Amino acid sequence: MFDVYLSADAMAAATEHFRSASWEGKEAMGLLVGRVFVFEGRPYAVVDEYVTAANDATAVHVRFAPEAFSELSKKLMGGRRVVGWAHSHPDYGCFLSTTDVATQETYFQEPYHVALVVDPVRNEKQCFKANKGQYAPVSYAVIRKKS
Ligand SMILES: [Zn+2]
Repeated sequence: MFDVYLSADAMAAATEHFRSASWEGKEAMGLLVGRVFVFEGRPYAVVDEYVTAANDATAVHVRFAPEAFSELSKKLMGGRRVVGWAHSHPDYGCFLSTTDVATQETYFQEPYHVALVVDPVRNEKQCFKANKGQYAPVSYAVIRKKS
């Protein structure tokens, strides 16, 4: 039992976005979209998709550009659920910064909400959750969908 299950497609889409942004010397971010299940009273997320929109980014900071919100709301029609977010730390490793913890606690408050951080330069990835200003890595598995 893992805390998060990520589809290989979502992971590949996020990694691709982060890698191309890192070639421009920038961070990047997007949302993790999927489903929530409960096992023995504990909710966990299955990430089906990585969805992104216009980013405002530098080498050490990223946020959605103002126009991203209407883009995202169009992409998220049809009852799909945001189960977390993903962003990159090009060549500085996987952790949550103070800003990242604040983002997690402000916008991703559900127990299943996950923060995926990818370092596309060092080829590292890790999922995190935050609580009361602290964060901790959580277990995850990358799954391939049977078609
Ligand atoms: Zn960060």
